[in-house]
Amino acid sequence: MRSVFSYRFDYKKRDILFSFIATNSFDQSTFFAEIDDQVRDNLIPDELIIVVRDPLFSETQKLFQDELDNIKGRLGPETAVFLVSYNSGGQQAQFDILSGAQENPALRLGDIKRRALTYIFRLRNGFVSSTENYHFQNPSKKHTKRFLRLSNILARGAEIAFMAFCVLPFVPERATIAYIDTPALFAIVAAINDQLQSFDSARPPVLVDNFSSYAGVENYPFTQQADSFVLISASSSGSLAYKLQRMAGFKSGQIFHFLYLGEDSHGINIVCDLSIDANVNPEGYPPSYGQASLEENCKLCLEGSHAIVLKGDHFEFGGPELDSLEIEKKFATTNLKDLMDELAGLEILKVGLGNSQKQPCHFFIDSKKLVASEDFKSRTKFVFKRTVPAATSHIIYINRDSEEFAKFAQEHARTAKLVARDSLHLCAGTPDPVVVIAAVIESGRVLQDISRELRSECPDAPIVYLVGLTKTLSESRHSKLKSTLTLSDKYCPQVYESILQIFLPASGNNNAWNQELNLLRSTQFTDLLIDGAEAIIGERRERLEQVSKPLLDELFLSNSHGSAPLKIQPGFAFWNKHFLEGRSQADVYFTVASVFQKLRTPADKQSEPIIKKNAFQQTLLHPNNFGRFNDGVIQASMLRCALPAELNFASSEDLSSEMARIIRRIVENWNKPRGEAACEFLLAIALGRIRLHKNSLNDVIGSVLVNAPPLLRTLMLYIDEVVKKE
Ligand SMILES: [Zn+2]
Repeated sequence: MRSVFSYRFDYKKRDILFSFIATNSFDQSTFFAEIDDQVRDNLIPDELIIVVRDPLFSETQKLFQDELDNIKGRLGPETAVFLVSYNSGGQQAQFDILSGAQENPALRLGDIKRRALTYIFRLRNGFVSSTENYHFQNPSKKHTKRFLRLSNILARGAEIAFMAFCVLPFVPERATIAYIDTPALFAIVAAINDQLQSFDSARPPVLVDNFSSYAGVENYPFTQQADSFVLISASSSGSLAYKLQRMAGFKSGQIFHFLYLGEDSHGINIVCDLSIDANVNPEGYPPSYGQASLEENCKLCLEGSHAIVLKGDHFEFGGPELDSLEIEKKFATTNLKDLMDELAGLEILKVGLGNSQKQPCHFFIDSKKLVASEDFKSRTKFVFKRTVPAATSHIIYINRDSEEFAKFAQEHARTAKLVARDSLHLCAGTPDPVVVIAAVIESGRVLQDISRELRSECPDAPIVYLVGLTKTLSESRHSKLKSTLTLSDKYCPQVYESILQIFLPASGNNNAWNQELNLLRSTQFTDLLIDGAEAIIGERRERLEQVSKPLLDELFLSNSHGSAPLKIQPGFAFWNKHFLEGRSQADVYFTVASVFQKLRTPADKQSEPIIKKNAFQQTLLHPNNFGRFNDGVIQASMLRCALPAELNFASSEDLSSEMARIIRRIVENWNKPRGEAACEFLLAIALGRIRLHKNSLNDVIGSVLVNAPPLLRTLMLYIDEVVKKE
């Protein structure tokens, strides 16, 4: 343990080492170790100022006289060494020159305090700063780019003792009570008590309590004002002190600020003014550094930066703030509508149930059907005519599903050889163009791997990458892939072309269908099965276990056994007006998933996504979405592609009760078209994909539905027995 706080600084071209002895005894070995470290790291100082509590003065003085040779050996004979003691009022008491010819320290004790506190403040990162994207709203509702967190700087015992020494001159002699505005100050008052008792062991400690800053001024029961003082952690205006005088009856002399940084400090009691002063405090901050302004005047808000609300005594970040989004027609772009014209109705889009790379992935594109479709063929023909060089020597297809597509390319380069991904070495050394063909890609990793290998196999060959359909998380991901693949040290970039692109979330295993299967398998669920539910559940479970067979029109639960699968009605806002024959549930699911994914990603580097999810903000899907999009297939698609956080209404009672009201209406109408997705809503609650506030959960399961089908009643029972108790 180091019981010494050392501060090394330059003043008027003199190198000064200030050593504050933090304890009530002088530990010689600690002190010399500290001096040795200083000399090793920063050479020998011109001046050493040692500060001790007054009761320690003579003992320390004698020790230094005895050890003078030792000190001189460590510091050299030139260094001036001063010993200063302070009294219980924090003022200089005794003074002695221990070594050297200099008569006085270059700087008075009072001037060192401000510099040294500023030094600790910087060292311990007293300011919490924002980035370009956000700023803060402090508990007094003002907005600021940075705020001061006192607890950050309370890191070392010796430093806290030094802080207490700096506060001592402000503590009224008879004070018995200290009121503080933030709990971090407990540590400093404890250190003050420790100091006071070392001067007078009979002195009772100062009692201390936190009144919680602005939030507490009006209601905190201040008592015995006459014998007390108020210590405010930090301020930029003195407004809290003013409020305390006005509302709690304190006199201005009883209130002082530990730290202060503001334009005008006139008439305000300050222990350490953090502002910069070329002479007195060269390491300080500009007075406007921590400035806060009212929300209506906040430039940062105007610039589109988000204000994070700070809460409580410790200026904590609250949980993410909730906002809610109503999905609008305009969120589906013309691109997506046209794309769905081309892809929907052809059994190209399917929901895979696979858990491994070999099984169909979640957003499964049937590349055989894609490649066989007429629209796609015409597009491909045009693109290939333009892009496949006649002199191509090899056409590499990345997987089996891409082989057929690769044959299209071969029609434009008749002498080219078709090469499988694992026979890449066959292209070794060719200087002629190589075409890499992929029917469908997701992350594009396989193309990056091939690109690396080709760079060493055939470094002189022009490479052309041709993709049928790219599933991508965002525009920026896709451009990044493109720029990696086209990178070249030759005369021009390599070529990358993707015929179609669709925005989709990543095909993860943690999707609604895997969760559904886990629920159907769990004994917690099967123990609750109502008569007649067993067969339906068994059938569904078997279907979901057929991982090699992706889902097309069995994505969603029907309310009753044997009824037709949920079917899309005409007039889906995200599609062009079109004849709907043959359009599947998967087509709707992919469309909704694509719209959602686009909303989750920013349009460009400067903007924020429409659906926000970060430590400070979370966008919820407004319950109204389920009223406006009242087609069961669309509702079920939204429920299954929303992330659980987007449907977590548990911390908003209003939204939760609105959601519950909508679900209840749907469930009660299970036998009418408007209640078509009743089981899907109940399943979403059972899986935790929708979370409701406890009170609203009772609303949902409150209906008595004796005639409802067994699956629906089982889900209700599960929510009542299991979900409600979680
Ligand atoms: Zn603001």
